[in-house]
Amino acid sequence: MLHVENLHAGYGASEVLSGASLEVKQGTLVALIGANGAGKTTTMRAISGGLKPSRGRVVLAGQEVQGLDASRIARLGLAHAPEGRKVFGPLSVEDNLLLGAYGRLPRFFGFRTKAQTDLERVYDLFPRLRDRAKQASGTLSGGEQQMLAIGRALMARPKVMLLDEPSMGLAPVIVQEVFRTIRRLKEEGLTLLLVEQFAKSALEVADYAYVMERGRIAVEGTPAELSRNERVIAAYLG
Ligand code: ATP
Repeated sequence: MLHVENLHAGYGASEVLSGASLEVKQGTLVALIGANGAGKTTTMRAISGGLKPSRGRVVLAGQEVQGLDASRIARLGLAHAPEGRKVFGPLSVEDNLLLGAYGRLPRFFGFRTKAQTDLERVYDLFPRLRDRAKQASGTLSGGEQQMLAIGRALMARPKVMLLDEPSMGLAPVIVQEVFRTIRRLKEEGLTLLLVEQFAKSALEVADYAYVMERGRIAVEGTPAELSRNERVIAAYLG
């Protein structure tokens, strides 16, 4: 469903990704782990179009998308819930969710009715967002904002969702809740690429995982394989 091949990208003259390749099969959850600064966020940005790759291919559901604008890639079925959540603070929870559907549904009469089914689905997944539908998003707790970011990404009915460090800055009990949600999304058949600092938790939910070091994939395998790998244990699971 998502195929990334020999991806190169960076900021100005400094190259961060130097030939990263990975594959996310339909209906699977793939984890991308690695040390701070390894290039995980940069990989996600280069896939979703926030950053233009200088070389390499990104194939989404059979179509090459590298070099296209982020909005175009989103319409083709890629949703990106970025690191730091990036909800629009002054807007209500519901308006933030509706923003997620804008790329997919024309904003004519009837938009609201058409988006209603998706809103209900998100509210069923996150009842706390239903209770706070009219509340300004900036006043939500960190965990609720993370749920909102995931909910907004779901509103686009993506073929593939990129989730960047959903546990960042959250209390342990909320992190558990976020991981339960991720597990549920996977059970519902969503295809997911997850970047996560908690390698152990990521390996518990993933079907397959990649370890990134200095802009490339250093090790890959099933969670069982990586959990036996001495190098992975020493660096990320110890
Ligand atoms: P972390 O877990 O700390 O977020 P990461 O693996 O996601 O790490 P990236 O955020 O992709 O790593 O960063 C990779 C490198 O790119 C780092 O050296 C970082 O300083 C650099 N970098 C990231 N964003 C920018 C930017 N906007 N401008 C310049 N350099 C950047």
